Amino acid sequence: MKKDIKEEPVPCEICGYPVIHNEYGFYQNCPKCGWRRGCDNTVLEQQWGIGYPMLVSLSHAREQYKQGLPFKADFDEFIQGLFFYSEMLFDYQGATCEVFLKGDEKSDIIVFCCTEFQQEYFSEKDFREKANIHGKCLKDIWDEVQDPRYM
Ligand SMILES: [Zn+2]
Repeated sequence: MKKDIKEEPVPCEICGYPVIHNEYGFYQNCPKCGWRRGCDNTVLEQQWGIGYPMLVSLSHAREQYKQGLPFKADFDEFIQGLFFYSEMLFDYQGATCEVFLKGDEKSDIIVFCCTEFQQEYFSEKDFREKANIHGKCLKDIWDEVQDPRYM
């Protein structure tokens, strides 16, 4: 016999459209704006500056929705995500690039690599300012980066 799972509609965090939430904590993807919710994103944003399962933070996602933009994490959220998840990915001009933390907690090295190169940075500041793809700073070409995400 199939057990009935208790479900109730709750307003989408972003657009307010009713989405199904069940007793196991599952949220349906929002049919109106496409937002996916998996936990208390307000708390996650306060503590880490990111969202889950979508990397973009709640308040930033609301802004993007208002402006009619697709949800996408900015460079800051990507870096915050790196320190939360340790391994991140994004696509650039059809190639997938990876950023991950190497080393122990005292001396994190940030490794940035794709098939054509590997770069290592010894501080967040260094990575933020110097990480580049063929000489173009990552922070400057972030608009062209697609689907920044955790691994
Ligand atoms: Zn929505």
